[in-house]
Amino acid sequence: MKATLGSVLNNSPALQHRLFFLARRFVAGETIDDAVRVVRRLNEAGLSASLDFLGEDVRREEEAAATAGVYCELVDRIAAEGLNANLSIKLSAIGQAIDEELAFANLRRVIERARPHEMFVRLDMEGSATVDSTYRILDRARAEYEHIGPVVQAYLHRAAQDVERLAAAKIRTRLCKGAYKEPPDVAIQSLPLIRRNFMLLAQKLLTSGAYHGIATHDEALIAAVRAFTERERIGPDRFEFQMLYGLRPKAQLALVAEGYRMRVYVPFGTHWAGYFYRRLTERRENVLFVLRNLFGG
Ligand SMILES: Cc1cc2nc3c(=O)[nH]c(=O)nc-3n(C[C@H](O)[C@H](O)[C@H](O)COP(=O)(O)OP(=O)(O)OC[C@H]3O[C@@H](n4cnc5c(N)ncnc54)[C@H](O)[C@@H]3O)c2cc1C
Repeated sequence: MKATLGSVLNNSPALQHRLFFLARRFVAGETIDDAVRVVRRLNEAGLSASLDFLGEDVRREEEAAATAGVYCELVDRIAAEGLNANLSIKLSAIGQAIDEELAFANLRRVIERARPHEMFVRLDMEGSATVDSTYRILDRARAEYEHIGPVVQAYLHRAAQDVERLAAAKIRTRLCKGAYKEPPDVAIQSLPLIRRNFMLLAQKLLTSGAYHGIATHDEALIAAVRAFTERERIGPDRFEFQMLYGLRPKAQLALVAEGYRMRVYVPFGTHWAGYFYRRLTERRENVLFVLRNLFGG
């Protein structure tokens, strides 16, 4: 699938245009203005947002600095427009793959800009090879700024240990299943076992007294989290559900209507293709949606 769509993109500007049109189901657009428009609409519907400027595995210093610059601009726009939104940053997009110091320096620029607004900065978690480095950068950043937190991927064998530490330190964490292809010695492979681990970790986080994000579209997990928080008398204002832009929008609104908090992860930027492929290959229905629209009558 990836190769086919990749070659479609490279060889036909017309199809590329059409593909971008379809990608906009999952991506807010290419510019900050596009992202702001989407966030405003989400806010009006009672949803908060986390903005991701797309791009990962950046190999050039200038590009990493430019990405940090876009996040600084985003802070200004979110604050100026009074949006209910925060930031999601992939450290590999601001230089982690080049040099940890560079990524930390770029992150500090964003933090300095976010500080007057106490705007929350989420460090997305990427492939397992980057996890230790991401926690090192997080720990250094937390020495200077408390409104920053990581993502725990429930498929990782190490997740329980990480959650133990994060819960004890009351560090605001996002819990998700994990999106990368990892080998069996690093990550749990079976979905039922990942779900089970997710729930154990969710219980630990939700009873830690800090405010966490439960990021999943999985109906069974959402039901289990709801049942657990009701039983433990953890109010719906003490945590938030999180979903991706364009995925299960009706479920997002339904949870808000029931009094839960919902934060939508909103990606934007010109590097939308990789993100779009990931969303496509996650679910067969998404691939069919694209093929129907590309090649259907
Ligand atoms: C806000 C957010 C941030 C994330 N950040 C990261 C990150 O930093 N690092 C990382 O590795 N991963 C991240 N992820 C991705 C995550 O790890 C998973 O890969 C992704 O969310 C898919 O897992 P899932 O639990 O949502 O549901 P899935 O495993 O995709 O689906 C499980 C079940 O959910 C239900 N379901 C799912 N979609 C639908 C639908 N459209 N309609 C009806 N039912 C549906 C079905 O019952 C399905 O069988 C993030 C996800 C979210 C939501």
